[in-house]
This record gives sequence, structure tokens and C-alpha cells, in this order.
Amino acid sequence: MNILVQFYIVILILLGAPSDALVSREHGLPRWYSPGENAQARAALDLLIEDLGMPVQISSAFRSYRLQEQASLRLISEEGQERASQVIAMPGHSEHQLGTAFDLAWMGLPIEFNDVRNRRLWDALQERAHEFGFVISFPYKQIEEWPFDNQWYPVVTEFRWEPWHIRYVGIDLAKTIFDAGYLDPQSAVLPQDFYLPWPQD
Ligand SMILES: [Zn+2]
Repeated sequence: MNILVQFYIVILILLGAPSDALVSREHGLPRWYSPGENAQARAALDLLIEDLGMPVQISSAFRSYRLQEQASLRLISEEGQERASQVIAMPGHSEHQLGTAFDLAWMGLPIEFNDVRNRRLWDALQERAHEFGFVISFPYKQIEEWPFDNQWYPVVTEFRWEPWHIRYVGIDLAKTIFDAGYLDPQSAVLPQDFYLPWPQD
């Protein structure tokens, strides 16, 4: 590898991805980017959980490119490419690689379990997460002109509705996104509208 390219990569690793780095189906993170859990995001999460006053478990936090690769390959072999690509991000395309995303569930419950306790937690996240700098990355959307909602299939937002998946973007940006009405199922606004690809080409 060219020495200048190596130097560039080292600088990017040291700086880390900005809090508004876009990670989507189209825009991915490099294989080498492996920052671990973001300390600022974790501190904000601890404050949020304390404020919620509920028994919360962190079901998933930082996931490396390699781990995402293993998980997606396993799912593809079990469910096939099409189904797998609807429920799991391909390697490099998961916000968990940023170290700022967390999946939360009620203590002891599976993450997707549509139980009254999980729903209570998800409702509280919708109401208060932004005050601590978090957004719900894949909110529920049901828009008249669109043929389906995204409760089971990612027709609208690329991904299914994931009320348990929050990402730390800092309080200012989280409030901006919240105020833009992204949680309104009838609104086409998505958090991803506020992010930029990283690293820039
Ligand atoms: Zn997640």
C-alpha cells in the first residue's frame, strides 16, 4: 500500500468517524475501521438508561466488520440472500461498526419480542432518547403514497422498523432530527437525511 494512503488511513482512525457519518445500504464503512465502543456514546447511554428507570439490557453494541461479515454470511446460508439482506446489514453497512449504536431490550427479553415491557421501553426511547443525543435509526413509517409500511419489510427505510436500535449523534443533531418530525409515521423525514458519507471520496 502507498505510504501516503497508509498515513491517510492512520489519520482517519485517529480522528474517528464524525458523529454524523452516513452508514446505509449504499454508503459503507471501510473494512479497516474498527474503533470499538465509543466512550462518549456509552456515557450518554448510561445517563439515558438511568433516566428511563427501567431494567434495560444492551443486547448489541460495537460490532466489527469481521463480526458483521460472519453474522451476515451465517444468515445468508440459513435464509438465502434476499431474506438475509432485509434483516441484516451487510459488512461495512451496519451502524454498529461506528461504535455509537446500541440495541436495547427489557432485561431478559429477546430484542424483537413484541412484549408490553419492550414496547414500554421503545415508547420511552421515542420520547426521550433525543434529550441524551440519540436517534432511533429506523423509525416506523407508514405513508399513504407508499405501498407498504416497514414494520416487517424494509420497503420504505431500507431496513425494517427497529425500535430497539439507537445511535448517538450528539444532543444538538439529535434534537434537530427530532424537531424535524422524523418519528411521525406519516413524515418522509429520516435520520439518514442529516448524515454525510465517510470518509469522503
Ligand atoms: Zn442494531
